[in-house]
Amino acid sequence: MALWCNEFLPASVGEYAFELALCAHLESADDVIVSRQLGGAVVDADRRVLDVVIVEPGRTFDDRARLSEATIPRRILESPIGAGTFRDWRRALGDGIAAEKAIERAINIGVLEVDHDRGRELVRLVDRYPKDWFDRIIAIENKPYLDEPGALYEQLQFDVSLGLADSVVLVTESYVTRAHRNRFPDEIGIWRFDPEEVSIEVITEASELATDGPGIEIANRQTGRTEIDIVDTTSKQHARRHLAERAYGKGWRTYRLPPCGQVDPDRGPFPGGPYCSHFDRLIRQERDCGPRCPGFEPAAPPPVDLAGLRARCSPWIRNPPDRRSHQSSLERFTSSQ
Ligand code: SF4
Repeated sequence: MALWCNEFLPASVGEYAFELALCAHLESADDVIVSRQLGGAVVDADRRVLDVVIVEPGRTFDDRARLSEATIPRRILESPIGAGTFRDWRRALGDGIAAEKAIERAINIGVLEVDHDRGRELVRLVDRYPKDWFDRIIAIENKPYLDEPGALYEQLQFDVSLGLADSVVLVTESYVTRAHRNRFPDEIGIWRFDPEEVSIEVITEASELATDGPGIEIANRQTGRTEIDIVDTTSKQHARRHLAERAYGKGWRTYRLPPCGQVDPDRGPFPGGPYCSHFDRLIRQERDCGPRCPGFEPAAPPPVDLAGLRARCSPWIRNPPDRRSHQSSLERFTSSQ
């Protein structure tokens, strides 16, 4: 199957497809990490999900990419576990299922090596974690049709007040009027994305937000009253690193291709996408597909290597070489390797 990073075809797209097409375009246009549907709050993860996140590589990006293709667990990065000395992981993380899962996960993705000493289980990172592997983070809110704004204005205000990302951008297909702009926070950027022409027009440049200081997380907004949480600088820095880590591990090709003869990943606005020939559009497998669909033709899902596409189209490195010089498992975790 011949698929190329910049091979775009015209398509009419809905909101979901608009987001996928935008991700494909952003990834093809620059050497960045693109991901979608990531938590964008610090105090309460349920308060905000960011549609699309762009992570611009920093000075030591390659060092991070060589550690693992996956998200490094937050608990590990916020613990005293480092690359030099082996440490008792129970002392470093404490007891509990969450700590065990973080250790198990970090071992499985290749960032921890293990040793034993008189019955104690010791771990260390396979290499120093590069703190400046990412440079800027751009949070994008997709709203192709501004006549259906929903909670758009509140979401943009949330992102600007918190300052988790370096800049916040609204991406739309609609014509942006002065009345729209007057309702947006001054700091946000506005881009028009045409998914058929596959082009972006920058209408307003985004302002740089103060990511190196505290932020205000809006908890609840009612008429005449807004409840907030103050987010201190350290918590925000940790949340930024976790957001970048999640983006690195997750990417944006999180869709599945349905077991239907009508799906054709060679068509559509980008290669490898869930394009349905029956409906002539991108589909969302879990919502659109199944035996009840009038076009359903049982077949094996097309053999598209989504991770391979990501590796070809972005700086993400798939399955980097194992760096461990010691054991790669604890006895108690061997069964999960
Ligand atoms: S199940 Fe229906 S929507 Fe899904 S790919 Fe097949 S024809 Fe298209």
